[in-house]
Amino acid sequence: MKSMIVLLGPPGAGKGTQGEKLETELGYVRLSTGDMLREAVRNGTELGKIAKGYMDSGALVPNDLIINLMKEKIESLGKVPGIIFDGFPRTVEQAEALDKELDIDLALNFDVEDEVLVSRLTQRRSCPDCNAVYHLSNKPPAKEGICDKCGAALYQRDDDKEETVRNRLKTYREKTFPLVSYYEKTGKLVTIPGTGEIDAIFAQVKKAIQ
Ligand code: AMP
Repeated sequence: MKSMIVLLGPPGAGKGTQGEKLETELGYVRLSTGDMLREAVRNGTELGKIAKGYMDSGALVPNDLIINLMKEKIESLGKVPGIIFDGFPRTVEQAEALDKELDIDLALNFDVEDEVLVSRLTQRRSCPDCNAVYHLSNKPPAKEGICDKCGAALYQRDDDKEETVRNRLKTYREKTFPLVSYYEKTGKLVTIPGTGEIDAIFAQVKKAIQ
């Protein structure tokens, strides 16, 4: 069973949704740099103050900040059954830094076309407390505007508005897409089509992890 897993793919490809399912089923820890940064912004920390401008425009937060954040997080975890990296690494420099920390067993790449991503992201609603994600038509919460898991009021992330979404996709193509060949070269890449039923995609994810 693979235990150190990187989730790759553009924003909106389903990394969070599939990562959450792995977390629940396998007891792995999901580390999402996006969730950590949003928490830092909400708490008004130094990191949050620096990160906010980059996040609002759809750009990447500088590598050194992210690499330090991730290293500290990994060290604080201690022994866990597995780790799912969601939204990290996003640049080759970050991938090289991660390789120095631990051995990645699998890079799961979710492939989804741009127009589907735009529709998914602009219709996404997120929970500020437990970070669960919903979609207004594909995965609505049982009670409108309320998180099924923790009861908090859902919100639309500022960077899920259309203009920023398009910038995030451009940033993905320029900075993150090269990671597909980075992991392909090491033989660790598995690409899965990221469209269709969430559970059908999850079945393929589990197969790749065996
Ligand atoms: P996400 O929730 O993964 O879509 O991330 C939201 C935003 O946080 C991104 O658009 C970036 O501005 C920033 N971010 C998250 N992860 C990283 C990362 N690994 N490197 C640089 N910036 C990141």
